[in-house]
Amino acid sequence: MTLQQDTPTARRLRTEIPGPASRALQDRREQAVAAGVGSVLPVYVTSASGGLLTDADGNTLIDLGSGIAVTNVGHSAPAVVDRVRKQACWFTHTCFMVTPYEGYVEVCEALAELTPGDHEKRSVLFNSGAEAVENAVKIARVATGRQAVVVFDHAYHGRTNLTMALTAKSVPYKHGFGPFAPEVYRVRGSYPFRDAPGLTGEAAARTAIDQIEKQIGADSVAAVVIEPIQGEGGFIEPAPGFLPALSRWCAENGVVFVADEVQTGFCRTGDWFASEHEGVVPDLIATAKGIAGGLPLAAVTGRAELVDAVPPGGLGGTYGGNPIACAAALGSIETMRNENLAASARRIGEVVLPRLRALAAETGVLGDVRGRGAMLAAEFVEPGTREPDPGLTARVARACHAAGVVVLTCGTYGNVVRLLPPLSLSSELLHEGLSVLEHAVRAEVNR
Ligand SMILES: *Cc1c(COP(=O)(O)O)cnc(C)c1O
Repeated sequence: MTLQQDTPTARRLRTEIPGPASRALQDRREQAVAAGVGSVLPVYVTSASGGLLTDADGNTLIDLGSGIAVTNVGHSAPAVVDRVRKQACWFTHTCFMVTPYEGYVEVCEALAELTPGDHEKRSVLFNSGAEAVENAVKIARVATGRQAVVVFDHAYHGRTNLTMALTAKSVPYKHGFGPFAPEVYRVRGSYPFRDAPGLTGEAAARTAIDQIEKQIGADSVAAVVIEPIQGEGGFIEPAPGFLPALSRWCAENGVVFVADEVQTGFCRTGDWFASEHEGVVPDLIATAKGIAGGLPLAAVTGRAELVDAVPPGGLGGTYGGNPIACAAALGSIETMRNENLAASARRIGEVVLPRLRALAAETGVLGDVRGRGAMLAAEFVEPGTREPDPGLTARVARACHAAGVVVLTCGTYGNVVRLLPPLSLSSELLHEGLSVLEHAVRAEVNR
Protein backbone atom coordinates (compact mmCIF):
# COMPACT_ATOMS: atom_id res chain seq x y z
CA MET A 1 0.00 0.00 0.00
CA THR A 2 1.23 3.50 -0.74
CA LEU A 3 -0.19 6.77 0.46
CA GLN A 4 0.87 8.55 -2.71
CA GLN A 5 -1.31 8.68 -5.78
CA ASP A 6 1.60 8.56 -8.16
CA THR A 7 5.20 7.63 -7.52
CA PRO A 8 7.40 9.67 -9.84
CA THR A 9 10.11 7.88 -11.79
CA ALA A 10 11.99 10.82 -13.32
CA ARG A 11 13.32 14.29 -12.61
CA ARG A 12 10.63 16.81 -13.36
CA LEU A 13 10.73 20.59 -12.91
CA ARG A 14 7.40 22.38 -12.79
CA THR A 15 8.59 25.65 -11.25
CA GLU A 16 11.88 27.34 -10.54
CA ILE A 17 13.78 25.82 -7.58
CA PRO A 18 12.71 26.59 -4.91
CA GLY A 19 9.19 27.25 -6.17
CA PRO A 20 6.49 29.49 -4.69
CA ALA A 21 5.09 26.91 -2.25
CA SER A 22 8.59 26.19 -0.89
CA ARG A 23 9.35 29.90 -0.64
CA ALA A 24 6.15 30.47 1.36
CA LEU A 25 7.16 27.67 3.73
CA GLN A 26 10.62 29.19 4.01
CA ASP A 27 9.02 32.48 5.12
CA ARG A 28 7.00 30.66 7.79
CA ARG A 29 10.08 28.76 8.89
CA GLU A 30 12.08 31.93 9.40
CA GLN A 31 9.49 33.08 11.95
CA ALA A 32 9.48 29.79 13.84
CA VAL A 33 12.71 27.83 13.38
CA ALA A 34 16.08 28.67 14.89
CA ALA A 35 18.41 30.44 12.46
CA GLY A 36 21.26 28.17 13.62
CA VAL A 37 19.75 25.23 11.72
CA GLY A 38 20.71 25.63 8.08
CA SER A 39 19.25 23.87 5.03
CA VAL A 40 21.36 23.10 1.96
CA LEU A 41 18.43 23.49 -0.42
CA PRO A 42 15.15 24.93 0.91
CA VAL A 43 12.73 22.92 -1.18
CA TYR A 44 10.11 21.52 1.17
CA VAL A 45 9.71 17.80 0.61
CA THR A 46 6.27 16.22 0.53
CA SER A 47 7.26 12.69 -0.52
CA ALA A 48 10.27 10.67 -1.52
CA SER A 49 10.83 7.28 -2.99
CA GLY A 50 13.93 5.45 -4.19
CA GLY A 51 16.32 8.17 -5.33
CA LEU A 52 13.75 10.93 -5.98
CA LEU A 53 12.40 13.74 -3.80
CA THR A 54 9.14 15.52 -4.60
CA ASP A 55 8.58 19.01 -3.22
CA ALA A 56 5.61 21.20 -2.30
CA ASP A 57 5.52 22.65 -5.84
CA GLY A 58 5.33 19.26 -7.50
CA ASN A 59 8.98 19.29 -8.62
CA THR A 60 10.83 15.98 -8.52
CA LEU A 61 14.55 16.09 -7.81
CA ILE A 62 17.28 13.47 -8.13
CA ASP A 63 18.82 12.86 -4.70
CA LEU A 64 22.60 12.46 -4.73
CA GLY A 65 22.86 13.12 -0.99
CA SER A 66 20.64 10.53 0.73
CA GLY A 67 19.99 12.97 3.58
CA ILE A 68 23.74 12.79 4.31
CA ALA A 69 24.37 9.07 3.75
CA VAL A 70 21.27 7.93 5.62
CA THR A 71 18.84 6.51 3.08
CA ASN A 72 21.38 4.07 1.65
CA VAL A 73 18.51 1.68 0.88
CA GLY A 74 16.59 4.44 -0.93
CA HIS A 75 13.74 6.59 0.34
CA SER A 76 10.85 4.68 1.87
CA ALA A 77 12.38 1.30 1.08
CA PRO A 78 9.51 -1.24 1.18
CA ALA A 79 11.06 -3.49 3.87
CA VAL A 80 11.66 -0.46 6.10
CA VAL A 81 8.15 0.95 5.60
CA ASP A 82 6.54 -2.42 6.20
CA ARG A 83 8.36 -3.16 9.46
CA VAL A 84 7.92 0.40 10.75
CA ARG A 85 4.21 0.33 10.08
CA LYS A 86 3.77 -2.99 11.89
CA GLN A 87 5.91 -1.98 14.84
CA ALA A 88 4.02 1.31 15.23
CA CYS A 89 0.82 -0.71 15.57
CA TRP A 90 2.33 -3.13 18.11
CA PHE A 91 4.01 -0.57 20.40
CA THR A 92 6.03 2.62 19.94
CA HIS A 93 8.06 2.79 23.15
CA THR A 94 8.59 1.05 26.43
CA CYS A 95 12.19 2.18 27.11
CA PHE A 96 14.63 -0.69 26.78
CA MET A 97 15.98 0.20 30.24
CA VAL A 98 12.51 -0.40 31.74
CA THR A 99 10.91 -3.29 29.86
CA PRO A 100 12.97 -4.63 26.94
CA TYR A 101 11.91 -6.10 23.57
CA GLU A 102 13.32 -8.42 20.93
CA GLY A 103 14.02 -5.86 18.15
CA TYR A 104 16.85 -4.26 20.15
CA VAL A 105 18.48 -7.66 20.71
CA GLU A 106 18.08 -8.57 17.03
CA VAL A 107 19.79 -5.35 15.90
CA CYS A 108 22.70 -6.03 18.29
CA GLU A 109 22.97 -9.60 16.96
CA ALA A 110 23.07 -8.28 13.39
CA LEU A 111 25.75 -5.74 14.35
CA ALA A 112 27.90 -8.49 15.89
CA GLU A 113 27.62 -10.47 12.69
CA LEU A 114 28.18 -7.62 10.22
CA THR A 115 30.96 -5.58 11.83
CA PRO A 116 34.62 -6.56 11.24
CA GLY A 117 36.23 -9.26 13.39
CA ASP A 118 34.94 -12.58 14.70
CA HIS A 119 35.66 -11.90 18.39
CA GLU A 120 32.92 -11.84 21.01
CA LYS A 121 31.02 -8.55 20.68
CA ARG A 122 28.47 -6.46 22.53
CA SER A 123 26.45 -3.49 21.30
CA VAL A 124 24.52 -0.60 22.83
CA LEU A 125 22.05 1.53 20.89
CA PHE A 126 21.56 5.31 20.82
CA ASN A 127 19.79 7.95 18.73
CA SER A 128 22.52 9.87 16.93
CA GLY A 129 26.02 9.52 15.63
CA ALA A 130 27.37 12.03 18.14
CA GLU A 131 25.85 10.07 20.99
CA ALA A 132 27.47 6.87 19.70
CA VAL A 133 30.91 8.49 19.46
CA GLU A 134 30.57 9.98 22.97
CA ASN A 135 29.65 6.59 24.37
CA ALA A 136 32.56 4.89 22.60
CA VAL A 137 34.82 7.33 24.46
CA LYS A 138 33.02 6.61 27.76
CA ILE A 139 33.54 2.88 27.25
CA ALA A 140 37.20 3.27 26.28
CA ARG A 141 37.90 5.39 29.37
CA VAL A 142 36.30 2.93 31.78
CA ALA A 143 37.91 -0.08 30.11
CA THR A 144 41.43 1.41 30.12
CA GLY A 145 41.32 3.61 33.22
CA ARG A 146 42.92 6.32 31.02
CA GLN A 147 41.55 9.67 29.87
CA ALA A 148 43.24 11.06 26.75
CA VAL A 149 41.47 10.83 23.40
CA VAL A 150 43.36 11.27 20.12
CA VAL A 151 41.64 12.72 17.05
CA PHE A 152 42.85 14.01 13.70
CA ASP A 153 43.01 17.10 11.52
CA HIS A 154 39.82 17.46 9.39
CA ALA A 155 37.87 15.16 11.73
CA TYR A 156 34.13 15.47 12.21
CA HIS A 157 32.46 13.59 15.05
CA GLY A 158 29.34 15.61 15.91
CA ARG A 159 27.92 18.66 17.65
CA THR A 160 27.53 17.71 21.33
CA ASN A 161 30.02 19.11 23.79
CA LEU A 162 32.45 16.18 23.75
CA THR A 163 32.12 15.60 20.00
CA MET A 164 32.62 19.32 19.27
CA ALA A 165 35.95 18.91 21.02
CA LEU A 166 36.71 15.91 18.79
CA THR A 167 35.66 17.79 15.63
CA ALA A 168 38.38 19.84 13.93
CA LYS A 169 36.64 22.68 12.12
CA SER A 170 35.80 25.82 14.09
CA VAL A 171 33.25 27.69 11.93
CA PRO A 172 30.41 26.72 12.01
CA TYR A 173 30.68 23.73 14.36
CA LYS A 174 32.60 25.07 17.37
CA HIS A 175 32.96 28.82 17.13
CA GLY A 176 31.58 30.47 20.25
CA PHE A 177 30.36 27.20 21.79
CA GLY A 178 33.28 26.56 24.15
CA PRO A 179 34.62 25.69 26.63
CA PHE A 180 35.18 22.23 25.20
CA ALA A 181 35.78 18.92 26.94
CA PRO A 182 39.36 18.42 28.13
CA GLU A 183 41.84 15.61 27.38
CA VAL A 184 41.28 15.71 23.62
CA TYR A 185 44.43 15.84 21.46
CA ARG A 186 44.59 16.47 17.73
CA VAL A 187 47.32 15.02 15.52
CA ARG A 188 48.20 14.94 11.82
CA GLY A 189 46.20 12.61 9.60
CA SER A 190 46.71 11.48 6.03
CA TYR A 191 45.40 13.67 3.18
CA PRO A 192 47.09 12.38 0.04
CA PHE A 193 46.06 15.33 -2.18
CA ARG A 194 47.53 17.88 0.26
CA ASP A 195 50.37 15.94 1.92
CA ALA A 196 53.93 15.92 0.57
CA PRO A 197 53.86 13.98 -2.72
CA GLY A 198 54.63 10.30 -2.23
CA LEU A 199 54.13 10.36 1.55
CA THR A 200 53.14 6.79 2.39
CA GLY A 201 50.39 5.84 4.82
CA GLU A 202 53.00 4.24 7.10
CA ALA A 203 55.04 7.45 7.16
CA ALA A 204 51.95 9.58 7.87
CA ALA A 205 51.02 7.20 10.70
CA ARG A 206 54.56 7.44 12.13
CA THR A 207 54.18 11.24 12.30
CA ALA A 208 50.88 10.90 14.14
CA ILE A 209 52.26 8.24 16.49
CA ASP A 210 55.32 10.36 17.18
CA GLN A 211 53.07 13.28 18.13
CA ILE A 212 51.04 11.01 20.42
CA GLU A 213 54.07 9.51 22.14
CA LYS A 214 55.89 12.83 22.59
CA GLN A 215 52.95 15.07 23.47
CA ILE A 216 50.62 12.78 25.44
CA GLY A 217 52.39 9.51 26.25
CA ALA A 218 50.98 6.20 25.04
CA ASP A 219 50.08 5.05 28.56
CA SER A 220 47.76 8.06 29.04
CA VAL A 221 45.74 7.40 25.88
CA ALA A 222 42.34 5.73 26.26
CA ALA A 223 41.32 5.86 22.60
CA VAL A 224 42.24 6.85 19.09
CA VAL A 225 39.03 7.93 17.33
CA ILE A 226 39.14 8.02 13.55
CA GLU A 227 36.87 8.07 10.51
CA PRO A 228 38.24 5.44 8.06
CA ILE A 229 37.33 7.92 5.31
CA GLN A 230 36.81 11.43 6.67
CA GLY A 231 33.34 12.73 5.85
CA GLU A 232 32.52 16.38 6.58
CA GLY A 233 36.26 17.14 6.47
CA GLY A 234 36.32 16.46 2.72
CA PHE A 235 35.86 12.78 1.90
CA ILE A 236 39.52 12.22 2.61
CA GLU A 237 40.69 8.67 2.09
CA PRO A 238 43.97 8.13 3.95
CA ALA A 239 46.96 6.71 2.09
CA PRO A 240 47.06 2.89 2.12
CA GLY A 241 48.78 1.60 5.24
CA PHE A 242 47.79 4.56 7.44
CA LEU A 243 44.87 2.90 9.23
CA PRO A 244 46.55 -0.53 9.67
CA ALA A 245 49.66 1.13 11.17
CA LEU A 246 47.56 3.12 13.64
CA SER A 247 45.46 0.14 14.55
CA ARG A 248 48.62 -1.95 15.14
CA TRP A 249 50.11 0.75 17.37
CA CYS A 250 46.88 0.88 19.39
CA ALA A 251 46.94 -2.89 19.92
CA GLU A 252 50.59 -2.77 21.04
CA ASN A 253 49.93 0.03 23.50
CA GLY A 254 46.63 -0.95 25.10
CA VAL A 255 44.84 1.92 23.33
CA VAL A 256 41.26 1.40 22.15
CA PHE A 257 40.98 1.88 18.37
CA VAL A 258 37.58 3.46 17.70
CA ALA A 259 36.36 3.61 14.10
CA ASP A 260 33.74 6.31 13.57
CA GLU A 261 31.84 4.65 10.73
CA VAL A 262 28.79 6.86 11.16
CA GLN A 263 29.02 8.08 7.55
CA THR A 264 31.08 5.28 5.95
CA GLY A 265 29.07 2.37 7.34
CA PHE A 266 26.34 0.17 5.98
CA CYS A 267 27.54 -0.59 2.45
CA ARG A 268 28.27 3.04 1.58
CA THR A 269 31.90 2.43 0.55
CA GLY A 270 31.32 -0.90 -1.18
CA ASP A 271 31.90 -3.01 1.94
CA TRP A 272 29.62 -3.28 4.96
CA PHE A 273 32.16 -1.09 6.76
CA ALA A 274 35.04 0.99 5.39
CA SER A 275 37.50 -0.52 7.89
CA GLU A 276 37.27 -3.81 6.01
CA HIS A 277 39.00 -2.38 2.93
CA GLU A 278 42.43 -2.76 4.56
CA GLY A 279 41.45 -5.55 6.94
CA VAL A 280 41.35 -3.26 9.98
CA VAL A 281 39.39 -4.66 12.94
CA PRO A 282 38.35 -1.79 15.23
CA ASP A 283 38.04 -2.44 18.97
CA LEU A 284 34.91 -0.29 18.98
CA ILE A 285 32.88 0.89 16.02
CA ALA A 286 30.38 3.76 16.10
CA THR A 287 27.54 3.58 13.57
CA ALA A 288 24.43 5.64 12.82
CA LYS A 289 23.25 7.35 9.59
CA GLY A 290 22.79 4.45 7.15
CA ILE A 291 21.79 1.95 9.84
CA ALA A 292 18.02 2.41 9.84
CA GLY A 293 16.84 3.77 6.48
CA GLY A 294 16.09 7.22 7.87
CA LEU A 295 14.95 6.56 11.40
CA PRO A 296 17.13 7.84 14.23
CA LEU A 297 19.33 5.02 15.48
CA ALA A 298 23.00 4.68 16.38
CA ALA A 299 25.21 2.05 17.94
CA VAL A 300 28.50 1.27 19.55
CA THR A 301 29.68 -2.26 18.83
CA GLY A 302 32.89 -3.76 20.10
CA ARG A 303 34.93 -6.25 22.04
CA ALA A 304 32.80 -7.76 24.80
CA GLU A 305 35.49 -7.25 27.45
CA LEU A 306 35.67 -3.51 26.66
CA VAL A 307 31.94 -2.81 26.36
CA ASP A 308 31.07 -4.89 29.40
CA ALA A 309 33.63 -3.04 31.52
CA VAL A 310 30.88 -0.44 32.07
CA PRO A 311 28.60 -1.51 34.93
CA PRO A 312 24.79 -1.62 34.48
CA GLY A 313 23.26 1.86 34.36
CA GLY A 314 26.40 3.47 32.92
CA LEU A 315 25.14 3.34 29.34
CA GLY A 316 21.74 3.99 27.81
CA GLY A 317 19.15 6.71 27.37
CA THR A 318 15.37 7.04 27.30
CA TYR A 319 14.98 6.55 23.56
CA GLY A 320 18.16 4.63 22.68
CA GLY A 321 17.18 1.66 20.51
CA ASN A 322 13.59 2.81 20.10
CA PRO A 323 11.50 -0.15 18.83
CA ILE A 324 10.40 1.58 15.61
CA ALA A 325 13.98 2.60 14.83
CA CYS A 326 15.09 -1.00 15.49
CA ALA A 327 12.37 -2.30 13.15
CA ALA A 328 13.60 0.14 10.50
CA ALA A 329 17.19 -1.06 11.00
CA LEU A 330 16.16 -4.67 10.54
CA GLY A 331 14.32 -3.73 7.34
CA SER A 332 17.28 -1.74 6.13
CA ILE A 333 19.81 -4.51 6.87
CA GLU A 334 17.52 -7.06 5.21
CA THR A 335 17.37 -4.86 2.10
CA MET A 336 21.15 -4.43 2.02
CA ARG A 337 21.59 -8.19 2.24
CA ASN A 338 18.89 -9.21 -0.23
CA GLU A 339 19.81 -6.60 -2.83
CA ASN A 340 23.59 -6.82 -2.21
CA LEU A 341 23.85 -3.07 -1.86
CA ALA A 342 27.59 -3.24 -1.18
CA ALA A 343 27.98 -4.41 -4.79
CA SER A 344 25.62 -1.63 -5.92
CA ALA A 345 27.85 0.90 -4.14
CA ARG A 346 30.90 -0.42 -5.99
CA ARG A 347 29.04 -0.18 -9.30
CA ILE A 348 28.12 3.43 -8.56
CA GLY A 349 31.80 4.21 -7.98
CA GLU A 350 32.70 2.54 -11.27
CA VAL A 351 30.25 4.82 -13.10
CA VAL A 352 31.03 8.06 -11.27
CA LEU A 353 34.83 8.05 -10.96
CA PRO A 354 35.65 7.82 -14.71
CA ARG A 355 33.13 10.54 -15.54
CA LEU A 356 34.51 12.88 -12.85
CA ARG A 357 38.09 12.13 -13.94
CA ALA A 358 37.22 13.00 -17.54
CA LEU A 359 35.61 16.21 -16.29
CA ALA A 360 38.77 17.00 -14.30
CA ALA A 361 40.93 16.56 -17.40
CA GLU A 362 38.57 18.64 -19.52
CA THR A 363 38.04 21.60 -17.17
CA GLY A 364 41.17 21.76 -14.97
CA VAL A 365 39.19 22.86 -11.89
CA LEU A 366 38.80 19.48 -10.24
CA GLY A 367 42.16 19.12 -8.49
CA ASP A 368 41.31 15.73 -7.08
CA VAL A 369 38.62 13.15 -7.75
CA ARG A 370 38.38 10.43 -5.15
CA GLY A 371 36.20 8.09 -3.18
CA ARG A 372 35.27 4.50 -2.69
CA GLY A 373 32.02 2.80 -3.55
CA ALA A 374 29.24 5.37 -3.44
CA MET A 375 31.13 7.88 -1.22
CA LEU A 376 32.58 10.08 -3.93
CA ALA A 377 34.00 13.56 -4.19
CA ALA A 378 35.62 16.19 -6.37
CA GLU A 379 37.84 18.85 -4.84
CA PHE A 380 37.63 22.21 -6.65
CA VAL A 381 40.81 24.24 -7.01
CA GLU A 382 42.17 27.15 -9.01
CA PRO A 383 43.46 25.52 -12.21
CA GLY A 384 46.98 24.13 -12.01
CA THR A 385 47.23 24.67 -8.24
CA ARG A 386 46.00 23.13 -5.00
CA GLU A 387 44.43 26.46 -3.98
CA PRO A 388 40.87 25.67 -2.82
CA ASP A 389 38.02 27.34 -4.75
CA PRO A 390 35.03 27.35 -2.39
CA GLY A 391 33.25 30.01 -4.48
CA LEU A 392 33.21 27.83 -7.58
CA THR A 393 32.18 24.85 -5.46
CA ALA A 394 29.17 26.74 -4.09
CA ARG A 395 28.17 27.99 -7.56
CA VAL A 396 28.34 24.48 -9.02
CA ALA A 397 26.23 23.09 -6.18
CA ARG A 398 23.66 25.88 -6.63
CA ALA A 399 23.46 25.24 -10.36
CA CYS A 400 22.83 21.53 -9.71
CA HIS A 401 20.11 22.41 -7.22
CA ALA A 402 18.45 24.78 -9.69
CA ALA A 403 18.42 21.95 -12.22
CA GLY A 404 16.80 19.56 -9.77
CA VAL A 405 19.77 17.53 -8.54
CA VAL A 406 20.61 17.48 -4.84
CA VAL A 407 24.38 17.49 -4.28
CA LEU A 408 26.17 18.33 -1.04
CA THR A 409 29.44 20.11 -0.37
CA CYS A 410 31.97 19.49 2.40
CA GLY A 411 35.60 19.97 3.30
CA THR A 412 37.70 22.00 5.69
CA TYR A 413 38.12 24.52 2.85
CA GLY A 414 34.50 24.23 1.64
CA ASN A 415 35.74 23.19 -1.80
CA VAL A 416 34.49 19.62 -2.16
CA VAL A 417 31.35 18.47 -3.93
CA ARG A 418 30.39 15.11 -2.49
CA LEU A 419 28.08 12.49 -3.92
CA LEU A 420 26.23 10.06 -1.66
CA PRO A 421 23.50 8.58 -3.86
CA PRO A 422 21.10 6.02 -2.48
CA LEU A 423 22.73 2.68 -3.25
CA SER A 424 19.55 1.57 -5.00
CA LEU A 425 19.62 4.51 -7.44
CA SER A 426 18.97 3.40 -11.01
CA SER A 427 21.74 3.71 -13.54
CA GLU A 428 19.57 6.12 -15.61
CA LEU A 429 19.05 8.55 -12.73
CA LEU A 430 22.71 8.31 -11.73
CA HIS A 431 23.87 9.15 -15.26
CA GLU A 432 21.33 11.96 -15.52
CA GLY A 433 22.45 13.44 -12.20
CA LEU A 434 26.07 13.30 -13.33
CA SER A 435 25.22 14.98 -16.64
CA VAL A 436 23.63 17.83 -14.71
CA LEU A 437 26.76 18.14 -12.54
CA GLU A 438 29.05 18.10 -15.60
CA HIS A 439 26.94 20.72 -17.32
CA ALA A 440 27.04 22.90 -14.18
CA VAL A 441 30.85 22.69 -13.98
CA ARG A 442 31.31 23.44 -17.71
CA ALA A 443 28.89 26.40 -17.53
CA GLU A 444 30.74 27.87 -14.54
CA VAL A 445 34.18 27.37 -16.06
CA ASN A 446 33.14 28.96 -19.37
CA ARG A 447 31.31 31.86 -17.80
C1 LIG B 1 27.24 12.74 10.87
C2 LIG B 1 28.43 12.25 11.60
C3 LIG B 1 28.47 12.21 12.99
C4 LIG B 1 27.36 12.77 13.85
O1 LIG B 1 26.17 12.08 13.66
P1 LIG B 1 24.79 12.76 14.14
O2 LIG B 1 23.78 11.69 13.94
O3 LIG B 1 24.59 13.95 13.27
O4 LIG B 1 24.98 13.12 15.57
C5 LIG B 1 29.58 11.66 13.60
N1 LIG B 1 30.60 11.18 12.87
C6 LIG B 1 30.60 11.19 11.53
C7 LIG B 1 31.74 10.60 10.79
C8 LIG B 1 29.51 11.74 10.84
O5 LIG B 1 29.52 11.79 9.50
